[in-house]
Formats: sequence, C-alpha cells, structure tokens
Amino acid sequence: EELSELLGSRVRDIPDHPKPGIVFKDITPLLADPAAFAALTEALAATAGRLGATKVVGLEARGFILGAPVALAAGVGFVPVRKAGKLPGATLSQTYDLEYGSAEIEIHAEDLTAEDRVLIVDDVLATGGTAEAAIGLVRRTPARLVGLAVLMELGFLPGGARVREALGEVPYQALLTV
Ligand code: IMP
Repeated sequence: EELSELLGSRVRDIPDHPKPGIVFKDITPLLADPAAFAALTEALAATAGRLGATKVVGLEARGFILGAPVALAAGVGFVPVRKAGKLPGATLSQTYDLEYGSAEIEIHAEDLTAEDRVLIVDDVLATGGTAEAAIGLVRRTPARLVGLAVLMELGFLPGGARVREALGEVPYQALLTV
C-alpha cells in the first residue's frame, strides 16, 4: 500500500555492512526526504494516539531520531533508552546477549511513573534482542507498556516472533517487513 511503498522506496541496502555477508538497511535516505519522514512520523504518532501512550521510549540511536518527532506529534513526552554509561542519573539497566558477547542498555528510573503508558519505538527489528531488552526494562518501571512499533522488521530473522512472545497481549507494529 501507499505508505509502505513510500517508506520502503527510501530505505537503501548497503551490502557487507558492518561486516561481510550482512546487508544493512540504511534509513538515511528516508530521513532526508521530508515527505517520507513526515509520513513515518504521522504513522507512528497515530499508533501512539490509538494506544493512549503518554510517553515514547526511543532506543539509541536511530530510535531517538524517529521517536522524538513522534512524541512531539503525539503530544507526549520522550524518554531515551541509552547504551550503558551514558545517562547521568539513577538508572535501571538490562543486559542482553549479542552474537558475540553482550550489551547493556539503561533508562532513567524516574522518567516513567505509574501513570505512564509507554510506546517503544525503534527503526529496525533484526534478531529482536534489543527490543526484548527494552521491553524488560520498561516492565521493571512502574509504567505500563502499551506497544512496540518499528519502521522495519527483517522478516528473514525470528525477531518478530521473539518480540511477540515477549509482548504477549501488548500490540506490536512493523510498518514494513522486508
Ligand atoms: P536486534 O537487536 O538484532 O533486533 O537489532 C536491532 C538493533 O540494531 C536496532 O536498534 C537497529 O537500529 C540496529 N540494526 C540492526 N540491523 C540493522 C539494519 O540493517 N539497519 C539499521 N539498523 C539495524
């Protein structure tokens, strides 16, 4: 349909990035196109509105680029989930496994309260490990998780099934599946 064509046509394949054999989905052409960036922002803001979100949680780094305008368009706050060691205040942290080794993400503990309804936003869902860790992090706050939305799911990986399992009844949206 129209939106997915507009968005999909602005995502570029970069072969062998960041390592040989990986085809990286590069969203910078989409960000550089004001009509596509606006359409993406509106679509995700509509999701935030439909779910009654009060906060958008964006995942470092491209989840910041998408999440901040979505929060503004939806009239809600923005809360960053960052890689460990970046946030200055008291944090909750979550480690998760990577192909080689592990990673850790953090959120400011005070930024989400019991009144908050949280939509997590990121650009690309690959293995689902990052999103699953963010789901765990938000669930350790007093807030209620109401959704996960991404621009693009890599459909040849099991990330979609993995986050659906982690989310249970909580809605998951991928605007594009490639
Ligand atoms: P996952 O944890 O394997 O699902 O990887 C998702 C995270 O890695 C997201 O934060 C994405 O921004 C990033 N990522 C993985 N693959 C790509 C890609 O092809 N393009 C852009 N970002 C990617």
